[in-house]
Amino acid sequence: MFDYADMTIDIDTLGKASRHRMVLHMTCRHCGHKGQIKARDLARTHGFGTDPRTWSFRCSRCDMRNCIVRVMEEIRR
Ligand SMILES: [Zn+2]
Repeated sequence: MFDYADMTIDIDTLGKASRHRMVLHMTCRHCGHKGQIKARDLARTHGFGTDPRTWSFRCSRCDMRNCIVRVMEEIRR
């Protein structure tokens, strides 16, 4: 039996997130607008060592820099 805690990976860089095919989901706290970007696309332009958890995303709808960022697995269909 696997312990779930043993299977978690600390995704602290865009490099790790892109290796694990993760996607960053952003939700604006101000207006609720949602967006997403593949970690590898962001890593190519902003560096593989960047920590996605501390990134300050700007909302494309209301222009506020107050977003919740979640790093999640890419769902393939
Ligand atoms: Zn917004």
